[in-house]
Amino acid sequence: MGKVYLVGAGPGAPDLLTLRAARILEQADVLLHDALVHPDTVALAANAEKIAVGKRCGARSTAQRFINKRLVDVARKHAVVVRLKGGDPMLFGRAQEEIGALEEANIEYEIVPGVTAALAASAAIGVSLTRRGLARSVTLATPRVGTEEEESDWAPAVVAADTAVLYMGVGQAPEIKRCLLERGMSPATPVRVVENASLPTMREFRLTLSELDRAPGHGVAGPALIMLGEVFDASACNSADAASADAPVTCLRRA
Ligand code: SAH
Repeated sequence: MGKVYLVGAGPGAPDLLTLRAARILEQADVLLHDALVHPDTVALAANAEKIAVGKRCGARSTAQRFINKRLVDVARKHAVVVRLKGGDPMLFGRAQEEIGALEEANIEYEIVPGVTAALAASAAIGVSLTRRGLARSVTLATPRVGTEEEESDWAPAVVAADTAVLYMGVGQAPEIKRCLLERGMSPATPVRVVENASLPTMREFRLTLSELDRAPGHGVAGPALIMLGEVFDASACNSADAASADAPVTCLRRA
């Protein structure tokens, strides 16, 4: 019986990986990885058989039940099995279902955390998610509901937080805007949409909640976050970027 490591690959840039993750990847006999993980990170598992198992938002992905079964099957035959997930495995990564399958099969496992997209985006745009006197709470949420799941009421937590980061939300930007306005969030709330955080292809859009329905019009195709809150007020941001803060929707390329 082998051991399974659920490892966070970080947000995209291959060098945003922990040393522990790198060491375990080097020892891997089998690697099951998400489609979004950078090829250089996958390549660290030099001796491993590599299996891509999904998942790209909106695209066809390997069914979760199948991934769980595959993980258990592989761990019965190999000593070191790595399940590599984008960002941190414990945030919006369905890790609990994989942990459940491993526990049920009595397979040993260990979790290795990674840098989640919200923190990579915060770093890349140079805006702290908390700020003394302004923001003391942060909500990480997603409006996305799986096909077999019940509707979720994600909005109250977003409205209540000083800063909110929405994962897997850009495709539903108009609904998100409507929902948050209905809940009483100010249309002037500063918003950033950050695509491909930590990668050379990163793009950042500055807008307000009232403009959020325009976000998909900018051809955001990579993974992206919607970030909301007063900390994103352009006038309160780094002066180097302030010149472009007047345009209603501004795209800043960081590359
Ligand atoms: N476990 C991952 C999240 C998986 S859900 C983590 O901790 O980051 C996938 C969503 O994460 C995407 O739809 C997008 O909203 C966000 N995401 C992942 N990588 C990103 C990146 N480099 N830039 C912006 N958003 C990203």
